Order: sequence, then structure tokens, then C-alpha cells
Amino acid sequence: MPTLSKRTEGFTDSVIRRMTRISNQYGAVNLSQGFPDFEPPRELLDRLAEVSREDFHQYSITWGAQNFREALAEKQSRLMGRTIDPNGEIVVTCGSTEAMMAAMMTVTDPGDKVIVFSPFYENYGADTILSGAEPIYVPLHPPEFSFDPEELEAAFRQKPKALILCNPSNPCGKVFTYDELKIIADLAEKYDSFVITDEVYEHIVYEPYKHVYFASLPGMWDRTISCSSLSKTYSITGWRLGYIIAPKRIIETAKKVHDFLTVGAAAPLQEAAVTGLRFGDGYYKELQSKYTEKRDLFLKGLDDIGITHTVPQGAYYILLDISEFGFESDLEFCEVLARDVGVGAVPGSSFFREDVNYLIRLHFAKKNETLYEALNRLEHIRKKISKRI
Ligand code: GLN
Repeated sequence: MPTLSKRTEGFTDSVIRRMTRISNQYGAVNLSQGFPDFEPPRELLDRLAEVSREDFHQYSITWGAQNFREALAEKQSRLMGRTIDPNGEIVVTCGSTEAMMAAMMTVTDPGDKVIVFSPFYENYGADTILSGAEPIYVPLHPPEFSFDPEELEAAFRQKPKALILCNPSNPCGKVFTYDELKIIADLAEKYDSFVITDEVYEHIVYEPYKHVYFASLPGMWDRTISCSSLSKTYSITGWRLGYIIAPKRIIETAKKVHDFLTVGAAAPLQEAAVTGLRFGDGYYKELQSKYTEKRDLFLKGLDDIGITHTVPQGAYYILLDISEFGFESDLEFCEVLARDVGVGAVPGSSFFREDVNYLIRLHFAKKNETLYEALNRLEHIRKKISKRI
């Protein structure tokens, strides 16, 4: 039989998605794959019901339905502080997952280098492999998850084509400050690189932190490919609606990559989502306070149990220190946790380039009752999981 592609040889399946399957198998409270168990805004669902009987069942324009792009351009112009052209500067994609992949394929050739901060969201590794690029990992040092400007410049000296910036950051919850972004911007300029952002948690940021759009930094619009999605902002991860915002020159090519990858995002869902894109500022304030409440509730519960953890500045993930249990494999720990404690988590090693086996990731995008149930189960963690030392 012929061999399969070399490109896929180093591939594993997604550990995040695998942990969801393991959680389901053991009936665990699934705090692994980050998605909500509460309903999207009622207005979106009502509109979706209407749309199902309207004329939106065939392909929309490949780079996104006009109505959707106009609503998105209006919202993002307000937030990003510049007028975004709905016709020339947006491509609507199947989730930010496709947006990131299309962005990578738009700017890199096989053999090009791409800077990725570690820890990183696992798709970036796969994105670089699929596009034939080579990642250069730059560590974010705990507990602040700050980068060393010298280390970053050393990576830029290798002449990367692009840097991938996840802000607010999955899994470490970091919200990059303006000064940190400025350091990245200056290096991107000096070494003439693109910056591909993943800003899907742009609206999930905790006081006093503020989200700064990388594209809004002086001079950065021209070299930034901003990727984001509606998944987290409107609690519709299954709708798979994402987008790229970038200058026309880049979008012209991204449109073609996207067209040949997927043709387009689901037309009825784009139409229904316009309702969300037109929400006023109050919606985003409410979303922020809802997640702040969940974060505080969950962190307090973990503190009561006495588990050391990160405190997210943004996004909805927490890294827990499990070193006291003495497991050599965090993957094995997560399986035991799902089976014996009944809580699903993601092994930290799937996010780190470095050899890290003492962290697991939990998320708190769940109903308060689900979070309380998870905390009740975690209370007995030391009785249920025996130490391996
Ligand atoms: N971004 C979410 C996570 O990190 C969901 C990932 C996915 O499965 N698309 O868990």
C-alpha cells in the first residue's frame, strides 16, 4: 500500500477533543474542552428559528454574507478604532480554527518559520505542520507568563514570516499589556514579519485588565491578520462562525485560500448571528460580569480545597498544579481524574513545548450548578487519587 503523507506523520489527534470523549465515557463533569453548557442569548435562537423558514439555505458569498460582514465591520470598527471595510477587509470563516489555518496558508510557504509562544493552544502546532512551516517556540515564563524580550528577539533573528499571538491567552489566561504588545510590534517591524492574532476571548477579560487589539498599535494594521470568532462571545461554539480582518492586500489572498478550503460558513447561521453582532455595549458588559462571577466562584472553590492554580486575567481557563500527586504523566492523571473523581481536564503538556507534566487545565464556562458539582467532586480529590511518590 502507498504511504500516507509525510506531513501527517507527526500528528496526534487533538488532546482537548480526546478528553471530551474520555469525560463522556466516565460521565465526568467535562471541564476539558472549552465550551459553555448554558444557552446562547435568546434573541439569537429566536432569529435562528425565523431564518430556518427564510431564504438562506444556499451558499452565501464565499467570503461571507453581506449582511454579516456589514454588522461585523460596524462592531469591530467601534472596538478596533478604525473604519473596517466590510467588502475589502473581512473574510468570514468556519470558526477561528479555519481563520487561523487560512491566515497561515496566506502568509507562509513550506520551510518558513513562525514564532509561537509556549504555552499555546494546540491547533497552532498542527497549523504550522499543515502549512509546512516550522515553529520557533518562545516561552512565556510562569507565574506571570511574561516573555523575555531578549529571547523573543533571538527568535526574530531567525527571520520568521509571522508570529502567532493568542490574546487573551489560552491556556494561561494572560492578557498582554500595551507595553508587551509594543515590544512585539517593534520586533515585527524591525524583522519585517506578519502577526497573526487569535483574539477569540476578546470580550472575556477581567478587571482591571483591558484587551488591546494588536492591529490597533501604531503601524501594525498593515502587517496584522486578526482572527477571531463568535463562538465564545455569543456562546455558539457549534455554529462555527469565525473571521479574518486584515488589510485588503492580505484579504484578497485569504479569500481565495478560504474559498478553496471550505467555500463558506453556514449561510443561515451567519444570518441569525447578525442579531448578536448588532447587540449594544450592555451585552458585552454583562458577559464580562457573568464570567467574572464564574471565575471568582470557581477560584474560591479551588482555594478552599487547597489546590494551587493560576488566576486568569482573561479567557476562561485555569492551570492547576498537580505536582503533589507525583504522576509522571499528566495524561494519565487526567484519565484517573475523569474516572475516579468525575471531572474532565486537559493535560497541561498538550499546551507546552517545554517538558511540563505537573499542570492540568480546567475551564469554567459552565452553569454555576455545574461548577459547584465539579467542586464537590474535586473536594475528595486527595482521597480518590492516591499519590504516586
Ligand atoms: N478553544 C477551546 C479549548 O481550548 C475549544 C477548542 C476546540 O475544540 N475547538 O478547549
